[in-house]
Amino acid sequence: MAKKIVAGNWKMNKNLQEGVALAKELTEVVKNPNCGVIICTPFIHLASVAEVVKGSAIELGAENCADKASGAYTGEVSAEMVKSTGAEYVILGHSERREYYNETPEILKEKVELALANGLKVIFCIGESLEEREANKQNEVVKAELAGSVFHLTAEQWKNIVIAYEPIWAIGTGKTATAEQAEEIHAYIRSCVAEVYGAEVAAETSILYGGSCKASNAPELFAKPDIDGGLIGGASLKAADFKGIIDAWG
Ligand code: 13P
Repeated sequence: MAKKIVAGNWKMNKNLQEGVALAKELTEVVKNPNCGVIICTPFIHLASVAEVVKGSAIELGAENCADKASGAYTGEVSAEMVKSTGAEYVILGHSERREYYNETPEILKEKVELALANGLKVIFCIGESLEEREANKQNEVVKAELAGSVFHLTAEQWKNIVIAYEPIWAIGTGKTATAEQAEEIHAYIRSCVAEVYGAEVAAETSILYGGSCKASNAPELFAKPDIDGGLIGGASLKAADFKGIIDAWG
């Protein structure tokens, strides 16, 4: 059985004080959850939020890391630096980074390797655009994204990979994939993982859904056999909303 996870991606929201306050509120309301709970915050929040969530049910992640180990790369933040804050996870391959910051499969491959080498677990995002969905190319797209950046990993490394399927047309749009649409492609993604790592490893791989996931639609999505949780944007910015999604695991 794959581990059930609800992860928040705060994106570029919350100043430091607001972020620390939200993390505190979450530690107060999220007790003994029936799934792993992760919050992924902007870099500058990490060290402070790490102190807040220490000893709680909440784990911490970053939203990105550099594709270089260290050195003269002004403004960049390395995987080693992320890890040193107390964070355990990093989101890589988000469509916003692919699209707005030109992150190619090759760049993402470097980032994934550096993250794993520094002891971080990776939440690796994949997902098709509206045009690709309309052309029925979603399977092709997600397979190519996996092949381009993570399918070269060893089975040992793969244990530290969580996949997040996020159809771009559902991100921040209020337009969620139906539970059936999501299940269909999650099952396909799991079959792709099985082709490379075998059925047993595929069954253990957490595959999260992301894209306008909220407390009202999470129960239906999470009831599907191949949906192991969610990667949550907008609804992770308020403790009550995020808790509502965590509670979908019962
Ligand atoms: P929304 O939940 O705001 O649609 O964002 C999803 C997402 O991009 C999480 O990484």
